[in-house]
Amino acid sequence: MGIEIKEDIKGKEVLELAFKHCLKCSTCKYSYKGFAPSCPSGETFLFESYWASGRIRLIRGLINGDLDWTEDIKHPIFACTTCGACADSCQAPHADFIIDMIEALREMAVKHVGPGPNQAALVDRALQTFNPYGEPNSTNEDLKRHYNLPEKAEWVYFIGCTSNYRQKTIRDATLRFLKNAGINFTLIDEHCCTSPMIRTGQVDIVKDFMVYNVEQIRKTGASKVVTSCAGCYRTMKKDFEKFGVSLDFEVYHTVELLKELFDANKLQFKTTYNKKVTYHDPCHLGRHMGLYQTPREIYKKIPGLTLVEMERNRNHAWCCGAGGGVKIGYPEWAIEISEERIKEAQATGATVLSSVCPFCRTNLSDANEKHAGGLEIVDLLEILDQVGIERRSSGKK
Ligand code: SF4
Ligand code: SF4
Repeated sequence: MGIEIKEDIKGKEVLELAFKHCLKCSTCKYSYKGFAPSCPSGETFLFESYWASGRIRLIRGLINGDLDWTEDIKHPIFACTTCGACADSCQAPHADFIIDMIEALREMAVKHVGPGPNQAALVDRALQTFNPYGEPNSTNEDLKRHYNLPEKAEWVYFIGCTSNYRQKTIRDATLRFLKNAGINFTLIDEHCCTSPMIRTGQVDIVKDFMVYNVEQIRKTGASKVVTSCAGCYRTMKKDFEKFGVSLDFEVYHTVELLKELFDANKLQFKTTYNKKVTYHDPCHLGRHMGLYQTPREIYKKIPGLTLVEMERNRNHAWCCGAGGGVKIGYPEWAIEISEERIKEAQATGATVLSSVCPFCRTNLSDANEKHAGGLEIVDLLEILDQVGIERRSSGKK
């Protein structure tokens, strides 16, 4: 089983671990709940290299020279949403590192045969406009003026590129919530959190972006950062450190801030939301970060709202299909994956499919529209915005 990894690559030790321990048992292909298929990649392409078990073999073959770096090899490498369902099911010692391995494989692929389809554009655009959408960079000064935000504050709201340039209703609902909840916060001139680059193996520019964001946050004197994006959350909380960028502030997802405020009895609702809602676990919040219960607790507090679960939920959830560079690399396939989630949501009888990630919202909305799913797709913060939320005057300090 021994193999010498000569290349100087990130995650080398992890790869050695996997080569030693992967039994090819195929547990990574199914979720424990009823042995339901859980890997969007394997289930679509039905060939071993598209499941985690095969990808580990692929890495081994590429490293020891049994396989050549060709254009064809790019498809199994990049057609994976890095959803983490395989890592959740695998019981071997390398399980927690399967996503790192896939990302390390992509880094190697970028060096040998170039980036995945359309994915070079993410870096080109980010280099020009500091966001992967190529939109003129918003310094967020207009928003700061509009919401009368200070230069120095306890909190920074890190909006994230998808909410700032594509899903602005999430951004605006979050800003209104933070104001109404009486949070002392401000905004910074953000550069992309670098999640799209890391997930697609294009890591050369990420450290500069991370350092810039940390410096901007430092200038505000904030000790806490809150984001409404599951991707930004995972990246700041897990990846900054991996790239040698240490944080001198705490990172929250909005659901964690909401929980803290509700637990301290500081918030109250103004109206009700009389709808049946099903919740989609974003991979970057659920499987990647272990936050399953916190968002559910918030939904359950909303007066009138009935929360129902989809067949596959929490760590067994089916991915929305957008992550890991799949939305830009294979847009039609991304929607196919999401269509399966839409059908699962419809089966619950809910009229609303809700999540806490702007990227999930984008892809679920695209699939819902394309296949006339008839669901209302909204973020939790948008629901709270509709219901109206305010700070209790008598809240405990
Ligand atoms: S990755 Fe884990 S679950 Fe998959 S075949 Fe290897 S040991 Fe089994
Ligand atoms: S990360 Fe998701 S799509 Fe990729 S191999 Fe694992 S289960 Fe399949």
